[in-house]
Amino acid sequence: MARIWYPVIDYIACTDCGDCIKRCPQGVYDSNKFPSPVVKNPNECIDHCRECSMHCPVGAISYVGDHADLAPTNGNEMEVEACCSNGSESTNKKVVVNYLYLDLQTCDRCIGTDSILDEVMLTLNPALEIAGYEVEYKKIQMDTAELAQQYRFLSSPTISVNGRDIFQAISENNCGCCSEISGTNVDCRVFESNGETFEVPTKEMLADSIFKAIFRQPTLGGSCEDYELPENLRTFYEGKLSKSGCSCGCEHC
Ligand code: SF4
Ligand code: SF4
Repeated sequence: MARIWYPVIDYIACTDCGDCIKRCPQGVYDSNKFPSPVVKNPNECIDHCRECSMHCPVGAISYVGDHADLAPTNGNEMEVEACCSNGSESTNKKVVVNYLYLDLQTCDRCIGTDSILDEVMLTLNPALEIAGYEVEYKKIQMDTAELAQQYRFLSSPTISVNGRDIFQAISENNCGCCSEISGTNVDCRVFESNGETFEVPTKEMLADSIFKAIFRQPTLGGSCEDYELPENLRTFYEGKLSKSGCSCGCEHC
């Protein structure tokens, strides 16, 4: 089993107080970005330390590799099943569903998928909770290249369960909306099922893939390979930045 543990920030809840950066003894966060928490050295994070989340005033920090049913053991290493698991069923009862997207103002695919995912989660949540699962559903805009790298974002939109993409393969075609936003040619995700291609996945596709991700069916792909921001997304962020007229290079504008 792989041993993986590092913090993930909910940037919607985060107030940029910088306490997590100050508290971390390992330099996991990028001090150059203070007070904004940007995970720069995930491999330095101490397994189950939780020092940063214990001092976060808004509960914005969770961890890749967290198991709600394992007691925190400050600094003690503990084997956890994470994204490189062999697909065997996990005893983990925490389910973090992340919706990672580029744009919810104009992009038809992001907006459509967002709406279907809301419906699916509304239906699945009560059943999972009855079964004893703690479900956390978050929507995170991949607003900058920096954020995309932090979440190992490969294609928009992406739905992940406990850090793992619920769909095995990534297929893309040209997205007029995101091309318009960035002033460049940008591809976004399409979803394939039974020989058909969908720009917005159906409820059945989403529900089926979420269940498979939760129960770790063996066919599901992992996400432990080395990550590099795809050229397509790099082009999007550069185009967006250039369209905004910002020349400071901070990637926040
Ligand atoms: S869990 Fe501990 S080591 Fe890891 S980022 Fe937080 S404070 Fe740093
Ligand atoms: S402690 Fe929490 S609110 Fe403060 S910067 Fe870190 S994540 Fe954001």
